Amino acid sequence: MALRGAKSRLKDLAAERVQILMENALLNAKEKMDLAQRQAAIARRICEKVNLRLPYWLRQHFCRGCKRLIVPGINARVRVSGKPKAVRITCLECGHTYRKILADKPKA
Ligand SMILES: [Zn+2]
Repeated sequence: MALRGAKSRLKDLAAERVQILMENALLNAKEKMDLAQRQAAIARRICEKVNLRLPYWLRQHFCRGCKRLIVPGINARVRVSGKPKAVRITCLECGHTYRKILADKPKA
């Protein structure tokens, strides 16, 4: 067995599993939140184990307070406020709120 690249192969595998788990979790969130939470927790654990950084769109789905899966419209409230343009996300599991400032124009 070749050792070189084994670690990055592991990461690829992990990333793939995490993605599948998260896709399932998001699909299940509406009807089976318990299951979705478990799947998300597993995905998170895999990431921690192999030191994998979640892609941005997946990171958005974890509360920074309680680390649980949050899905807008189900257990998170998302509000867009005016100036500066920002998105406010409230986790309905723990009440943690955080804001994300949206840049007016993406830097070219
Ligand atoms: Zn929370």
